[in-house]
Amino acid sequence: MKSHAKVVVIGGGVVGCSVLFHLARHGWTDVVLLERDELTSGSTWHAAGGMHTINGDPNVAKLQKYTISLYKEIEELSGQATGVHLTGGVLLAATEARLDWLRGVVAKGRYLGIDLEEISANEAAELMPLIDPKQFVGAVRNKEDGHLDPSGVTHAYAKAARKLGAEVERFTKVEDIVRRPDGTWRVITNKGEVVAEHVVNAGGLWAREVGRMVGLELPVLAMEHMYLITEDMPEVAAWNAKTGTEIIHAVDFDGELYLRQERGGMLMGTYEKANKVWSEFQTPWDFGHELLEPDIDRIAPSLEVGFRHFPAFERTGIKQIINGPFTFAPDGNPLVGPVRGLPGFWVACGVMAGFSQGGGVGLALSNWMIEGDPGADIWAMDVARYGDWATMAYTNAKVRENYSRRFSIRFPNEELPAGRLLKTTPIYDLLSAKGAQWGVSYGLEVPLWYAPAGVKDEFSWRRSSDFSHVANEVATVRESVGMAEISNFAKYKMTGEGAAAWLDRIFACKLPKPGRMTLAPMLKDDGKLIGDFTLANIGDGEWFIAGSGIAEQYHMRWFEAHLPADSSVRLEALGQKLTGLAIAGPKARDVLAKVSRADVSNAGFPFMAVAKMDIGTAPCLVGRVSYTGDLGYEIWVAPEYQRAAFRALMAAGEEFGLGLFGSRALNALRLEKNYGSWAREYRPVYGPLEAGLDRFVAYGKDADFIGKTGALAERKQGGKLRLRTFILDADDADVIGDEPIWYDGAVRGWVTSGGYAHHSKKSVAIGYVPKEIADKSDGFEIELLGKRHAARVQAAPLFDANFERMRA
Ligand SMILES: Cc1cc2nc3c(=O)[nH]c(=O)nc-3n(C[C@H](O)[C@H](O)[C@H](O)COP(=O)(O)OP(=O)(O)OC[C@H]3O[C@@H](n4cnc5c(N)ncnc54)[C@H](O)[C@@H]3O)c2cc1C
Repeated sequence: MKSHAKVVVIGGGVVGCSVLFHLARHGWTDVVLLERDELTSGSTWHAAGGMHTINGDPNVAKLQKYTISLYKEIEELSGQATGVHLTGGVLLAATEARLDWLRGVVAKGRYLGIDLEEISANEAAELMPLIDPKQFVGAVRNKEDGHLDPSGVTHAYAKAARKLGAEVERFTKVEDIVRRPDGTWRVITNKGEVVAEHVVNAGGLWAREVGRMVGLELPVLAMEHMYLITEDMPEVAAWNAKTGTEIIHAVDFDGELYLRQERGGMLMGTYEKANKVWSEFQTPWDFGHELLEPDIDRIAPSLEVGFRHFPAFERTGIKQIINGPFTFAPDGNPLVGPVRGLPGFWVACGVMAGFSQGGGVGLALSNWMIEGDPGADIWAMDVARYGDWATMAYTNAKVRENYSRRFSIRFPNEELPAGRLLKTTPIYDLLSAKGAQWGVSYGLEVPLWYAPAGVKDEFSWRRSSDFSHVANEVATVRESVGMAEISNFAKYKMTGEGAAAWLDRIFACKLPKPGRMTLAPMLKDDGKLIGDFTLANIGDGEWFIAGSGIAEQYHMRWFEAHLPADSSVRLEALGQKLTGLAIAGPKARDVLAKVSRADVSNAGFPFMAVAKMDIGTAPCLVGRVSYTGDLGYEIWVAPEYQRAAFRALMAAGEEFGLGLFGSRALNALRLEKNYGSWAREYRPVYGPLEAGLDRFVAYGKDADFIGKTGALAERKQGGKLRLRTFILDADDADVIGDEPIWYDGAVRGWVTSGGYAHHSKKSVAIGYVPKEIADKSDGFEIELLGKRHAARVQAAPLFDANFERMRA
């Protein structure tokens, strides 16, 4: 074994081997993979080997498509057969709600280049002869489904990597990882040490244990998973003989089953409701090539449905039941990327669909390590989407929920119960008493809307029980004054003699003067967006930044990676050490004037001013800015004072008709201002010009800000896309995001978010289209629940296009 390497990859499952291959293919060949046993000695060897392109997140779907396209290449390069059978498959719907969901999947496929087609249940039965079509209302055909040989694929990655110069050391167990003073890593094994610049944790079933070696508690947990293999079936033999083809794959969402042919019989797997965690706290090191005891009782309810939906199974014996463990993150997507606070330590774990996702994970990680950027939008699998709040118990609750809901529909207005009430702010009970309906963001309870007694969300793809109540909240803001809790923002404090110079480099905007705020885009080296913030200069060398709450860890990783080595800049993520309230609407100033002794007149406290002031008795930081696009204020307050500030504002607001509003109303309000938000409109694959944030980029400022060259190049060349707001002729449903945008009979763009703008009474969608068609005012259509609706570009904001309300 070599003593030094640029990269040590820990783990020879399908994921580690893919990472190794991608690093070598990308030109880093001084790389070594350490595997404690034979390759495939974790989850990989007993996988069912199914692969597919469908994923709830379109960007993960793209990487799945890439993974499937890769198998031919690694087979050729390595000479190792991968056993790929690209049979195609059908996705089955037994209910109308499921069919609506599947139509959304088909629609997404149009701009992802995934070939999906809605077909009838009878057509599905013609393609897959074991189906009882009477059990289904419709289906979707996917030509890119199939299965493979898990061991063949893993060895093909490893052999291809070796041919490119990478090394693989089997029977080499990593026992500890120690950071050296120069920032490199000592990887200590049972066979000696390797010093490496980078370490990748691809430990699969042992990813937690490998993480613990560097003090990291990763939010992953293994679940038991069972599939059965039947005896040979005459129906299968007959089909094979008649068509000369295998029986295609089937996913029966309502039966929570997946099926494929296995030799002369069938394989049927299920994500059972009565699921079981495996090795809750610690994965035993002596676990390897053994299987777990099957428990047919646990999967019996699913099998019963399976026998009904696929009657031939009832007439066949079960040859074998495989029960094996594999890991999940709380949301079921992988954990990939560099770990905040551990430079050179990377993770590629929590991969629950290694044969659909392993290639994409390897590609993204190798790009990230070598180029400094994953080269794709991988937010949905970025390890930084979780923070310390994703505790072991939280992970346990969410993984179990996610496993049992693997094939369940999640409606756009549906909030899930597991792991809840983890983080609450001090006014949680006060808001609950007012009817708050809660959602969750980055572990924090967030008010979505306020319901009268007896009313709650009815889950639906269409406008639902909250519609008229959210409309009332919007009207309160536009007509008098509303108050919202905004503690879910990420908040950062920055001080130190180097702070201003550092901010000037990290943000693309001009720095605000003391007492002022500005919108602050943050760019990556390639000039694309990596964040959008509000930056406030409090004075006396103190700065305050507010940004996307879900991206706190993501942004801290970026900030810290760019901090100067000396202590001239001090940065703190405030999390829930600072809570927030917002008031907005034409009467907002009257309310503020009543509770504060500061001069809050338009002259004394103009738009984008910021100042410390007391609200009632509570010390607060107040900024005159509002995401509602109305006259409004954001109020930041330490949690111990939040109740006092809230009560003072409620009391003062009474005479002005103050009412509470939630994040759904806020969405309706910001849509009619064409305001975007992080992770929806603003993501790291768009440039500021494309995203319409170029007006906040100080292209000419003296400071050599990160991304300046890329941003200037984008401005010169014009980028490729444009973000546009559309008004949609839709009457009972609104977009939620990821719907295709059609122009001139072809899919040309995609929706990033939308909803109903209650004040303007318009269905609004925001999305990206190619710049060549972005200035066409009409001719667009947006596909929603399987129907195309005419859409027009709304260039000027629907509400207060001249910004008179905000600045008044
Ligand atoms: C019953 C079952 C059916 C499945 N069906 C499918 C399917 O149809 N399609 C699909 O895509 N996925 C399926 N999966 C999931 C799939 O198996 C996983 O997604 C995949 O195997 C994860 O691979 P991995 O490389 O991340 O982890 P693992 O396969 O667990 O690999 C981790 C490797 O790291 C090694 N390792 C760990 N710690 C150390 C250390 N300290 N030193 C050295 N080596 C170490 C281990 O020995 C192991 O070989 C199934 C899983 C199960 C259990």
